[in-house]
Amino acid sequence: MKKINQYIDEVFQTEDELLEEVMQSIKENGMPNISVSPSSGKLLSMLVSISGTKNILEIGALGGYSGICLARGFDEDGSLTSLELEQKYADLAKQNLTKAGFGEQVNYLTGPALESLEVLVQQNKRYDFFFIDADKGNYPNYLENCIKLASPNAVIAIDNVLARGSVADKDAEPKRYTSMMQEFNQHVANHPELEAVIVPIGDGITVAQVK
Ligand code: SAM
Repeated sequence: MKKINQYIDEVFQTEDELLEEVMQSIKENGMPNISVSPSSGKLLSMLVSISGTKNILEIGALGGYSGICLARGFDEDGSLTSLELEQKYADLAKQNLTKAGFGEQVNYLTGPALESLEVLVQQNKRYDFFFIDADKGNYPNYLENCIKLASPNAVIAIDNVLARGSVADKDAEPKRYTSMMQEFNQHVANHPELEAVIVPIGDGITVAQVK
């Protein structure tokens, strides 16, 4: 999986000075190196652009790498709402999105995402694209809330669903993280309100459409 990803990144990824600066800012601020891969970021931009998305909801901002990729796919009237636990991370993400020219189109809600989602559901908000990339144990809860907030035919993208390939390794020692992602993937595959598939780039991204 690592080799395939390196190959895809090498062939399809051109230099991106801005995203490299975002990675540098994350490092300088002592934040973890867990942004989406360059190719996953490109996939997000393309999915937003192809689907003609106007309103995006992201769960898990970190330093704004995926936020920039998502925002690159929409027009001047697009908007991104991003849920982030850490105020420091949301502040850096806002700074990086502003540098990228999307400062007016992004809004950060800080605190536990489940609490923010509850408020958005109460406010009857609607989004046509979701990107789930926060604490994995809450993925099933995030998914159900996204479905509640979804416009017809909305797209839900979910990161890290291959758990570094371990979900497909039948001989590997059983690990809690792996079995949690296997269960989640099965749940998505059987979900009556979703049509979904996993795209095996980066750490695996599920692309689902709400029926
Ligand atoms: N999507 C980002 C990117 O690719 O640039 C990376 C997100 S990182 C993998 C996960 C983020 O989720 C972290 O910034 C973390 O602080 C945030 N997070 C973790 N638990 C959370 C929670 N309960 N509510 C909201 N955000 C949370």
